[in-house]
Amino acid sequence: MSNHALFITQVHAARLQQPDAPLNARLLRECLQLRHDDAAGRRWSARNYPGGYTSYDTASRMHERSPTFAALARRIDSHVRDFARALDYDIDVRHLAMTDCWVNIMGRGAAHTGHLHPLSVISGTYYVRTPKGSAELKFEDPRLARFMAAPTRRRSARLGNRSWVALPARAGHVVLFESWLRHEVSAQRVAGERVSISFNYALA
Ligand code: FE
Repeated sequence: MSNHALFITQVHAARLQQPDAPLNARLLRECLQLRHDDAAGRRWSARNYPGGYTSYDTASRMHERSPTFAALARRIDSHVRDFARALDYDIDVRHLAMTDCWVNIMGRGAAHTGHLHPLSVISGTYYVRTPKGSAELKFEDPRLARFMAAPTRRRSARLGNRSWVALPARAGHVVLFESWLRHEVSAQRVAGERVSISFNYALA
């Protein structure tokens, strides 16, 4: 007799490079420079992302605009292909291509409420700078609406049995998930700015 783990939700987390690697330093400079140059994005963020800056509305294809971001995208590509294989997608994984890539800078109080990434296959985030105590990335069990009379889980529940799982933001690391998986970033509680680069992949 055995218990089967079915309908598994996979999340991929891996170190892409050391936080002090030259590519990461260049990415950080370009993220901060983009905020400096992108007045329209700062205005958009003031309305939609209080306490933070995002280029989501104004510069959302950074991998096509900057060789530095393109170099990051090439490194992420191989993780996306490995993840797609782990998910047993019946596709040629080489056809998964980055379609969007944007910058997020969260100051104290900035937060990103629960959302999905529609029209994409795999989404994720690369962390550029994560001051100690930076906000985590929190995933929600996609079956939550169907649980009806199911008891809540123990605080000590195994990872795979929890309804919410928060992964720490770690500079130099990448996190990948299927784009339908609801997630949020709770408020940044420390003074230092949390800098990340988010992206979507779709079938080209
Ligand atoms: Fe997201």
